[in-house]
Amino acid sequence: MELKPIIELIKENDPIEIASKLYETYKDVDYKFNAFITLRPWEDIGEDIKKARGELRGIIIPVKDNISTKGILTTCGSRILKNYIPPYDATVIRHLKKYGIVVAGKTNMDEFAMGNTNENSFYGPVYNPWNKDHVPGGSSGGSAVAVAYNGFIALGSDTGGSIRQPAAYNYVLGLKPTYGLVSRHGLISYGESLEQIGPIARFTKDLAYITYIISEYDENDITMPEDHRRVKMRENLIRFIEKGVSIEPKTYRIAYSSKFIDYADPMVSTKIHNVIDKLDSEGFKLEDIDLGYLEMGLPVYYIIAMAEASSNLARYDGTNYGLRIKAIDYWIAAGRSRADGFGAEVKRRIILGSLITMKGYENKYYIKALRLRRAIRDKLIQVLTKFDFILTPTAPTPPPKFGEALGPEGYILDLYTVIPNLAGLPALNIPAGFVNGLPIGIQLIGNYFSEDELILISSYLEDKIYNPRMTPGGD
Ligand code: GLN
Repeated sequence: MELKPIIELIKENDPIEIASKLYETYKDVDYKFNAFITLRPWEDIGEDIKKARGELRGIIIPVKDNISTKGILTTCGSRILKNYIPPYDATVIRHLKKYGIVVAGKTNMDEFAMGNTNENSFYGPVYNPWNKDHVPGGSSGGSAVAVAYNGFIALGSDTGGSIRQPAAYNYVLGLKPTYGLVSRHGLISYGESLEQIGPIARFTKDLAYITYIISEYDENDITMPEDHRRVKMRENLIRFIEKGVSIEPKTYRIAYSSKFIDYADPMVSTKIHNVIDKLDSEGFKLEDIDLGYLEMGLPVYYIIAMAEASSNLARYDGTNYGLRIKAIDYWIAAGRSRADGFGAEVKRRIILGSLITMKGYENKYYIKALRLRRAIRDKLIQVLTKFDFILTPTAPTPPPKFGEALGPEGYILDLYTVIPNLAGLPALNIPAGFVNGLPIGIQLIGNYFSEDELILISSYLEDKIYNPRMTPGGD
């Protein structure tokens, strides 16, 4: 299929024809790279398209398997939910349906979104389409691969990098929205103070449109503010989608820290410095500044994420959802269901999270982490009063080989991506080229509700620092 924004393709083509071509692509990506946990039968999709109304009718979208879809299996990459069929749609799915978009299937992911390589899925790993010996990143690995391999858009979720890092590892765009921009109603919780649903896309225009659609207000999520910045930003998105808006690079100030960038693998940091030089030659105003102790973000993030995970996952006891191993005693039944239902990484986090929040330990880890979280946020907000964006690598290494980043040693891959989640700020991965034939990306962090600005800069950089038509399968 021709590679141009799908929101343009759909206007020029028959909806069923577009949908069937997309479906062929998804079948291929599933067969070759294990990108889907559930790919719906074509007959069901066709029925839904027949009934669908809206200007994007014909677009069928891969959705990460931790986003609830009415009547469609939603496993969260876990054995414990291997036969869970939600009785309702997440708000983002309801929004997509209003535009005629139909769910194509549910994409593979690290169990409960815990991981960054997709090796923690009960349904087997996903393979990187640029090189099958390497991981696709995670936890939204299936969604990123589905876009990279001749797709256009997909939904992921991002608690500490799960949209941006697999986007970087697959040479596509990935946006983690401002905390509270997109409803989390129907997203299966892992770390609720950190996470957001967001889009992965090939073209900026599609990224903008999906962001616009899924960010409609929802009274079911009390963390969604009726903020005027949010309303204005969404109006700007529409202006961009309809008319296109060009920018003057010299009006943008971008901060970076060489010290922070240089924690990355030298091949990655060299590439990032090349991108900085390129932006400089385009006219952007860049400055190397002291960003404080952002590397502290990684332990802070893991303490908070594990504390929240241990409480969120307490609901899986074999009683209400999913796998149930029967026993006479409740605790024996719950223990057995959990022992069989959860994988090793999830168990590790539940146990550590429970320890961290245990009476007597709170001050040692959890409260300290909350204080540092505040300090990191304050530092970033201070920098963002003077600068429009902060630039970092998206990940410190190119995609590792299978097995190389398993378990706690692999947490280092999240060094840069956890920072915006701790502060609730929006952040975008933009493809930045290749290291040894493997994709890497830059991360731009903006101020609250500056997704419109991130999108404008991404659109400017399209065809300048990255080529949205490049696919691992060739054109
Ligand atoms: N890799 C991080 C973690 O495992 C982030 C995952 C995510 O964003 N869901 O917690």
